[in-house]
Amino acid sequence: MNEPSFKRAYIGLGGNLDDPATRIQRAFIALNGLPNSQLVKQSSLYRTAPVGYLDQPDFINAVVALDTILGPIELLDALLYLELDEGRARSFKNAPRTLDLDVLMYDDLQLNHERLVVPHPRMGARAFVLFPLQEIAPDLWIPGMGSVKQLAAECVGQDIERL
Ligand code: ADP
Ligand code: MG
Repeated sequence: MNEPSFKRAYIGLGGNLDDPATRIQRAFIALNGLPNSQLVKQSSLYRTAPVGYLDQPDFINAVVALDTILGPIELLDALLYLELDEGRARSFKNAPRTLDLDVLMYDDLQLNHERLVVPHPRMGARAFVLFPLQEIAPDLWIPGMGSVKQLAAECVGQDIERL
């Protein structure tokens, strides 16, 4: 039987409540501690203006590359568990949150599952994903969307600051 092989996933982290920068640093460590997984790159932290629902604090965002044997849904479940561990509550769309962990990409997989859509459908237009992603993977091609360089260049004008 074939051994399961490592796949490279990109994960987006964000939060804007109760010291999100510390929560994101803690999440880097927790992600590296997931079973059969290794954190291979982490971006700087970025301060970004909220999107959608504007009457809330600025966000802190980052992106990591994680090599993992976990399957895509197993990885999603692990992320949802870490969110709960950080006190994440779900109130309304685009609401303030302590920690949001999204599967941005899973290898070159394109998946449209009721619980998981990858590449993340909104990542191609968001500076808070594309800028940190470009920092750690400048030559990345996002399946169905295009190059991270090109997509990031189209996001100029969005309010984002590298910390
Ligand atoms: P958002 O990140 O869009 O603000 P939530 O974090 O509340 O929303 O996620 C809601 C649901 O989105 C999750 O329970 C999960 O099943 C689903 N979902 C679909 N695709 C993804 C993805 N690529 N990464 C994370 N969650 C996803
Ligand atoms: Mg999410």
